[in-house]
Amino acid sequence: MSAPRNSLDAIASEITRCTKCPLHKSRKNAVPGEGNPNAKIMLIGEAPGYWEDVKGKPFVGAAGKFLDTLLAEAGVSRAQIFIGNILKCRPPNNREPAPDEIQACTPFLDRQITAIKPKLIITLGSHSTAYIFAKAGLTFKGITETRGKLYKTNVLGLDLHVFPTFHSAAALYNAKYKQTLIEDFKLLKTKILQLKIN
Ligand code: URA
Repeated sequence: MSAPRNSLDAIASEITRCTKCPLHKSRKNAVPGEGNPNAKIMLIGEAPGYWEDVKGKPFVGAAGKFLDTLLAEAGVSRAQIFIGNILKCRPPNNREPAPDEIQACTPFLDRQITAIKPKLIITLGSHSTAYIFAKAGLTFKGITETRGKLYKTNVLGLDLHVFPTFHSAAALYNAKYKQTLIEDFKLLKTKILQLKIN
């Protein structure tokens, strides 16, 4: 029996066949995202990098290894959450997502959010935060000013909280972000306990 149109499996299968933007031409694999279909927590990154493109899975390269450390700080396991990205295909040379690519790709993310109905969305980095803030009708004033706080809001008709922080890859390029990320995920642990969504 085939999966209903908006189940995560059906969305993932559409993503792997998607040709809506030029990134499909250079991808080895699309990266739909993965995790618990009933997750209370969703984590949204930017776009697949080299190893994600090779393996078709999110956050399996260096930024993903550091993400595992961060999740452990928050007392959260990968199996418990859903991990996705703004773009499902790797931009060449890991360049930033282009506005037309974001526009073409994010209907998939919206459908994933609608299917999962998370209580908390962790946004990693400015692209992911700007996108979710726009959906929530919140003004995004840059990741440095926005990060490390919990925002009670509504996204796609769902009452939920958003917690923005730096992208885990930022810590690989600049050590000063590493400690901030660790502190943000420690704070997240207390917020998750308060919200009773663990
Ligand atoms: N960076 C991202 O934003 N997403 C991934 O899946 C990997 C690295």
